[in-house]
Amino acid sequence: APAIAVSGLSVRYDGADRRALDEVAFEAVPGEILGILGPTGAGKSTLMQCLSGVIPRHEEDAAMRGDIEVFGRPLPDFAGLSEITESVGLVMQDPEVQLVNTMVREELVWGMENRGIPVPEIERRLRRACDLFDIGGLLDRFTHALSGGEKQRVVVASVFCLSPRIMLLDEPTSELDPAGTEGVMDAIRVLADEGVTVLVVEHKIEELAVHADRLLAMRRGRVEAIGTPRDVLMGS
Ligand code: ADP
Ligand code: ADP
Repeated sequence: APAIAVSGLSVRYDGADRRALDEVAFEAVPGEILGILGPTGAGKSTLMQCLSGVIPRHEEDAAMRGDIEVFGRPLPDFAGLSEITESVGLVMQDPEVQLVNTMVREELVWGMENRGIPVPEIERRLRRACDLFDIGGLLDRFTHALSGGEKQRVVVASVFCLSPRIMLLDEPTSELDPAGTEGVMDAIRVLADEGVTVLVVEHKIEELAVHADRLLAMRRGRVEAIGTPRDVLMGS
């Protein structure tokens, strides 16, 4: 089964004059990096929120219809957000929203502790997260005192620590310099090679063209094109 299969997905926010998502359909295969691009307002964040199960449960003003399957299982069959998050990890656009602990080490560990992951496994994932996202030097820092780029790396790392099979990243490098961006993209590739499916919204098109397996271009709530970076960027 595809990692994600979406069909006829439409969303209209209350009072909006057009749909934020309009009959969106696509699939993502296991272990691929699918880059999502499009101008502001195209519906990228709304799509990420739908896929992570956030919209139908918390955004009461958003009417959604259509089908989303995660590894062949319809999203409504999951037992709520807590079960969805075991398969799908979301990194939202604003890292502040997701940083809930005082210290970076706590931020990385608390989600794993909440799930009852054994201590040796917590330690193993923590070391791996530090390695992949270059945050070993930040563990004893206050989360609120981190730079924007450091916050982004900590949030991505904390989602990685929960070991989701699908990671949804909404502009994870917006606050990062070119070296930091390259680092995060390289880490994403390592995870994809291990079978994690990554959907990443990104404005840095050159970076995406290099690192993504396929691109999905959105415009006004619709899928404008999907295919290899070459096809999508050269096409029409
Ligand atoms: P993108 O991430 O591509 O910038 P969004 O998904 O944020 O696009 O927005 C898609 C459309 O939905 C835009 O027209 C935006 O104004 C509208 N929108 C997004 N969030 C809300 C909301 N909470 N309430 C009303 N309209 C919204
Ligand atoms: P169409 O474009 O097919 O004419 P609209 O989007 O204008 O449809 O909506 C028609 C009706 O369906 C309206 O009553 C609207 O509130 C409702 N609706 C629109 N979008 C959705 C959605 N995503 N989920 C549930 N109901 C919706």
